[in-house]
Amino acid sequence: MASLSFKHVIKQYQQGRQSLQVIHGIDAEIGDGEFVVIVGPSGCGKSTLLRMVAGLEEISGGEILIGPRVVNRLEPAQRDIAMVFQNYALYPHMSVFDNMAYGLKIAKLARTEIESRVLRAARILELEPLLDRKPRQLSGGQRQRVAMGRAIVRQPQVFLFDEPLSNLDAKLRAQTRLEIQQLHRELGVTSLFVTHDQVEAMTLAQRMIVMNKGRMEQFGTPEEVYARPATTFVASFIGSPP
Ligand code: ADP
Ligand code: MG
Repeated sequence: MASLSFKHVIKQYQQGRQSLQVIHGIDAEIGDGEFVVIVGPSGCGKSTLLRMVAGLEEISGGEILIGPRVVNRLEPAQRDIAMVFQNYALYPHMSVFDNMAYGLKIAKLARTEIESRVLRAARILELEPLLDRKPRQLSGGQRQRVAMGRAIVRQPQVFLFDEPLSNLDAKLRAQTRLEIQQLHRELGVTSLFVTHDQVEAMTLAQRMIVMNKGRMEQFGTPEEVYARPATTFVASFIGSPP
């Protein structure tokens, strides 16, 4: 596995002749095996930051490192990351097994290796009895687990989650939250989880980054952030006692 480092990371979007800076120099070190949550209001730059780690968005300045490797110029497939989105599009005509195996087939892994990885992920996610089903024969929660299975089988160094729970109802959200925690306990993969929900951040995070307007306001444990907010923004966003 690997640590994840941000060194003065900047992002500017080009809009016609204007350039719009949305990430203003983020510095952070996420430890090997750590579960870190980025929390902040809508539009503060959370997805942009994650998409730069994934290689879906170019970095305008600074460096992102996964372990010792600067990944700025690497293709997404070379970065050893897996991303779980809120809209987990499964292939409707493929079985659960084939949905999970698809990326590995593309990567031309041996059939026995593909089988053992998919079966292991299915065991961890309790999907073993469902491997022959099609997505339409699954509940929302089961589909979400297949989406996570697709990420697990790739055995990435880093997991990226972009608000994967926000389309779920409250009950399923709580259940999936527990499953993500269990997954992290079991696999210990370095994880970066984005949400705009303070409660979700406080429950899931080992440490959390509070973002506002493209800047990092605080990076600490939920207890630290709550008890000793670094800025008035953090205090009001987290709802710390005055
Ligand atoms: P969040 O995920 O925290 O809601 P985003 O990272 O999606 O925030 O967006 C951060 C800022 O960047 C917003 O002001 C958004 O409008 C802007 N933005 C995002 N994507 C683009 C893009 N492709 N072109 C121009 N501006 C963008
Ligand atoms: Mg977003």
